[in-house]
Amino acid sequence: MNDPDFSRCIRDAGGRVTAARLAVLRCLAAAEEPLTPDEVLEHLTQTPGHVPDRVTIYRAIDWLSAHGLVRRLATVGRAARYEPVEDREAHAHFQCRRCGQTRCLPAPSPPLPTLPPGYVAERVELVIHGLCAACRAGENA
Ligand SMILES: [Zn+2]
Ligand SMILES: [Zn+2]
Repeated sequence: MNDPDFSRCIRDAGGRVTAARLAVLRCLAAAEEPLTPDEVLEHLTQTPGHVPDRVTIYRAIDWLSAHGLVRRLATVGRAARYEPVEDREAHAHFQCRRCGQTRCLPAPSPPLPTLPPGYVAERVELVIHGLCAACRAGENA
């Protein structure tokens, strides 16, 4: 997606296109894994252009999340992690219990259990918890 598309997403969600919202959305879309707000700040600091302050980034992420443009993952501990909703099917994630690294798993999610009559699912998220390769190597050392 290019910038005009990001702007359109924000406008379509009923919001004002601010530099911070645009920068955050662009950063999350470019990232290969879900990021915490602090990681977004780190990325933005490393790329040329205007860098919004921390509070502004948190606000931008809150807004994007509340308007369905980014998804907050059900990860445990540490800071919440976000990824863009656009262009990505729902998918499972892996979270390392040691370093917190969270990766997107491209594999399709397993079939859903049947819900009791009258129940409706609104959100399904699969997070596999364990150790990443680097941390596993570290534990065995
Ligand atoms: Zn790890
Ligand atoms: Zn993901």
